[in-house]
Amino acid sequence: LRELFAPLSGLGKLTTTLFTAGAAAERVLELLDQEPSIVEKPDARSLQRANGQIRLERVTFRYPDSDRPALDDVSFTAEPGEIVALVGPSGAGKSTLARLLGRFCDPESGAVRLDGHDLRDLKLVDIRRNVALLLQDAYLLDISVGENIGYAMADAEHGDVVGAADAADADDFIRCMPNGYDSRVGHSGRMLSGGQRQRVTIARTILQDSPVIVLDEPGTALDAASLHRVMGPLRRLATGRTTIVISHNLMLARAADRILVLDEGRIVDSGSHDSLLESSGLYAQLWELQQHETAEADLVRTAR
Ligand code: ADP
Ligand code: MG
Repeated sequence: LRELFAPLSGLGKLTTTLFTAGAAAERVLELLDQEPSIVEKPDARSLQRANGQIRLERVTFRYPDSDRPALDDVSFTAEPGEIVALVGPSGAGKSTLARLLGRFCDPESGAVRLDGHDLRDLKLVDIRRNVALLLQDAYLLDISVGENIGYAMADAEHGDVVGAADAADADDFIRCMPNGYDSRVGHSGRMLSGGQRQRVTIARTILQDSPVIVLDEPGTALDAASLHRVMGPLRRLATGRTTIVISHNLMLARAADRILVLDEGRIVDSGSHDSLLESSGLYAQLWELQQHETAEADLVRTAR
């Protein structure tokens, strides 16, 4: 089994490979036993299915050996079913926030709450059950594509797996694989394209059915066409769940109910896309920059 998870063995800092904070990730973490700083209290409470309210209360977090906090006095609430986008320049603290939401780190001060419960008071398995993390590099195991979708849910039936794949626009390409749902995906899923891998992880997350999902830069590894293909699945995944979508791509952020702008660990602005553009702060600058980048990319493309 260890061999199966070998690609994850550099997991200490959880920076790259972890795909979901669901039951599967829980198993991986148990196996690797690499999160000594995260401990479950002996009297930890269970929370079977959360409503999905997320609340950060004056959260400050600092990495070891770092003098500047990666998150500095951050507070916000996401109500059940709300889609909140978190944008900001590289190094602003977005991924750190994702780690705190999945309790892969604990705050130095302040609290992260799910339905009012401090995450530190909950059983880890219940946090993983309720909060699913989807990271930019879709990570798959070298087992069949069906197992990759279903393995976070031990009792999933084939019909459930197919239903989730369908909602993630993955059913069609899976059926075209040599052995359908039984086809192996290869090491790290290399038999699939980046977009297909992303859709398989979306299917897995849909099947897992967590009330809270955290997406850290979804689709960053994808080209424009593949990104376009995952938009529908991402929307279906977000529907009816509290969704925190982290993105430097403001096109994705635009679809959110509310946008929070993070800079140097602090929330510097929040509001709708239009109101943020009008206030012409950091968000407007990022938007401006992105329009130029898009225009340049188009130029390069047409020049080819
Ligand atoms: P973002 O996702 O917005 O680009 P991060 O949350 O990854 O930002 O990083 C926030 C800050 O924390 C940055 O200054 C970064 O250098 C620092 N940082 C991130 N991960 C680590 C780590 N594992 N150890 C030390 N510092 C880190
Ligand atoms: Mg990041």
